[in-house]
Amino acid sequence: MDEWFAEPPFAGLQQRYRILERLYAETTRWQSLEILDLEGPGRSLILAGTLQTSLNEEFTYHEPLVHVPLFAHPNPHRVLVVGGGDGGALRHVLLHPSVDRALEVEIDPSVVEASRRFLPEISGGAYTDPRAELKIDDGARFLAETDERFDVILVDSTDPVGPAAALISDGFLHSASRGLAPGGLMAMQSGSPISQPREWLATVGAFKRAFRIVKPYLGYVPIYPAMLWSWVIGSDEVDPTRFDEVSVRTRLEGLPEPLRVYTPAMQRAAFALPRFVQSLLELSDRDQPPTRAELRSAGHPLPGVLD
Ligand code: SAM
Repeated sequence: MDEWFAEPPFAGLQQRYRILERLYAETTRWQSLEILDLEGPGRSLILAGTLQTSLNEEFTYHEPLVHVPLFAHPNPHRVLVVGGGDGGALRHVLLHPSVDRALEVEIDPSVVEASRRFLPEISGGAYTDPRAELKIDDGARFLAETDERFDVILVDSTDPVGPAAALISDGFLHSASRGLAPGGLMAMQSGSPISQPREWLATVGAFKRAFRIVKPYLGYVPIYPAMLWSWVIGSDEVDPTRFDEVSVRTRLEGLPEPLRVYTPAMQRAAFALPRFVQSLLELSDRDQPPTRAELRSAGHPLPGVLD
């Protein structure tokens, strides 16, 4: 009899995966943690019952999160990763030769330990890179207290519940904005316009209150509900859609390994939003989450399954 893993339904959607092997489980101070070998994604990290990342598809999420903002910055030296305990974002940051300091602030040490033990390919030695530092702390508290300034801040967090709820608050984004060096920019995973439209709109709305320039962008993450995923970049000075393509191409060719999602054309195309996503975005300027009727009239493709 096959055993299956499924996340709680998002907007009536539920994807499930055949379990090939259960490798590890613990309840940490912050969340439940499992390592499962799933048919398709391969060895996978699951936190609080939601699939975070896996050996076979981690690049579909980490490349858009990391390389779109890093290539949008002309010369990133100091990068902060909030969350990211699997080490994937950190590894991708360190591919950039211009980076001489990469600090990861992760609240749960168990995530790092389990990821390094069962999914070492995802961090790929990043934690022993002399440019890298791992700090176990709440990212919201760290940014509220630090005097350090960063060229790029990446928030690679779990969904905005539990310890991650603080990471889309106005206070956190204000601290992050203050933590950027001149010409700096911030990027965050912002959920799915399809399966999590209200969380997505809340994150974009919070960015609009914190930054002058806010640019959502899209990609495809096969293991996430409805697969269409989003990230958002905020900055007071840098428009990530305006860049020198020759410079990006030269820097891309200088990376120590080829990327599997990111291309210079994607630096512009990722920000080209489908018409219904643009219509939904108009709902991000409100105090209240949109109702199902408002999502439906804005063109959400699956309104019938929204609570
Ligand atoms: N990189 C994965 C992916 O591909 O989606 C998922 C992100 S990573 C596993 C999410 C991390 O955010 C978790 O390790 C979680 O412990 C961490 N986290 C949640 N809230 C946090 C906070 N307030 N400060 C620092 N880390 C936090």
